[in-house]
Amino acid sequence: MRASEATRYYFSRAAKRLGIGQRLERILVAPRREVKVECTIERDNGELATYVGFRVQHDNSRGPMKGGLRYHPDVDPDEVNSLASLMTWKTAVANLPYGGAKGGINCDPTQLSYSELQRVTRAFVDNIHDIIGPTLDVPAPDMGTNAQTMAWIVDQYSKYHGWTPQVVTGKPIDLGGSEGREAATGRGLVYAIEALLTDHGKQISDMTYAIQGFGNVGSWTARFLNAEGGKVVAVSDAGGAIYNKGGIDIEDLINFSMVRGGISGFTHAEAVPADSLLATECDVLIPAALGNVLTQETAPSVRAKFIIEGANGPTTPEADEYFIKEGMIVLPDIFANAGGVIVSYFEWVQNVQQFRWKEDRVNAELKTLMLDAYAEIKRTVKHSHSDLRTAAFQLAISRVAKAAALRGLENESFCMLVPPKSP
Ligand code: NAD
Repeated sequence: MRASEATRYYFSRAAKRLGIGQRLERILVAPRREVKVECTIERDNGELATYVGFRVQHDNSRGPMKGGLRYHPDVDPDEVNSLASLMTWKTAVANLPYGGAKGGINCDPTQLSYSELQRVTRAFVDNIHDIIGPTLDVPAPDMGTNAQTMAWIVDQYSKYHGWTPQVVTGKPIDLGGSEGREAATGRGLVYAIEALLTDHGKQISDMTYAIQGFGNVGSWTARFLNAEGGKVVAVSDAGGAIYNKGGIDIEDLINFSMVRGGISGFTHAEAVPADSLLATECDVLIPAALGNVLTQETAPSVRAKFIIEGANGPTTPEADEYFIKEGMIVLPDIFANAGGVIVSYFEWVQNVQQFRWKEDRVNAELKTLMLDAYAEIKRTVKHSHSDLRTAAFQLAISRVAKAAALRGLENESFCMLVPPKSP
């Protein structure tokens, strides 16, 4: 199943429960705009090379569109489309005044020099600068891009429109980036895990964890879980997996992987096959690397009771239905990994106000928004007897639909779709 079909499946499952009707379903599912551009640059050897870039703007009913920019050889319009739609639902679940977008350039950043990457990025901005902007569409880093990429975008965009750091988030602190942004997704994930476990009469320190991926999301999540007394028993990255029944020393592993560029060769744990990670004997499984890893084939091997989606789109619909049938609990990506976009929003707010927040304030506001979103999802679960993912989609769809209705984009009244607040 293609990425966009999976997102549509989750969207439709929730839309049908809400009873919004085919007409509105059709309006909300289709992206507003899909842009494809050719970025031609001179390579360091003097030859010309052309890379295809995409920006999909899915919905702006609730505010400017927001979403990352990915540089990867597999970037294709279908995947970008699916991720743009997920961003609409994620910003709505977190109740941010944003819509959703996503973009990417089909290139292998590991095969491009620093100056080639800079030229590709500037060429991309030359092509799309009139459709992005602080009140239109605000990109951010994603796979293959980073704070430096965002700095080039600020510079190139500002040549056309004057000094505009708020055109992107995830910038270096010196160019208006926010304190706390780097750790935000992992920190938010751990706030979400804590809330979920509390509902099940457990705490972080009671549980064992397996984490797929040890990049930004995986390593910060591991660090925060470890700090709360959680026992991380297995970790994997692109180079392999490691296991230690007694718990892996996460600070040690972070230092090791920073020096070695990965976790392979870490001696205080046993090396195990990478594909065994998902089947680790543990309480909580955290996919924090790739999409589509929990499938019809892999789902039956999962032994964890709780699955927390650090990655975007790690679970196919077949696997999701299996987990629901088996009574396993999945905390969906559109809520669980929203910490990154929440702190991106704080960065944008600070830029617009030309004012800087201290990290303590960023983290406290992040916690408030994550817990508010969780409370709203739970309220929807209670009201409509949905699983957590369907409830999160219901909440998001009703918020977007209501904004669209209030703006006159669609005539029906959707206020009734939002369940009444409990006394
Ligand atoms: P990253 O590039 O920093 O890290 C990715 C990690 O996954 C690396 O450790 C890599 O080695 C590992 N990996 C790659 N292939 C693997 C494989 N086959 N098996 C196991 N591990 C593998 O990326 P990231 O920013 O941590 O993002 C990870 C996921 O989280 C992506 O799906 C991304 O869209 C999502 N996400 C990230 C953020 C964020 O703020 N960074 C926010 C929301 C969602």
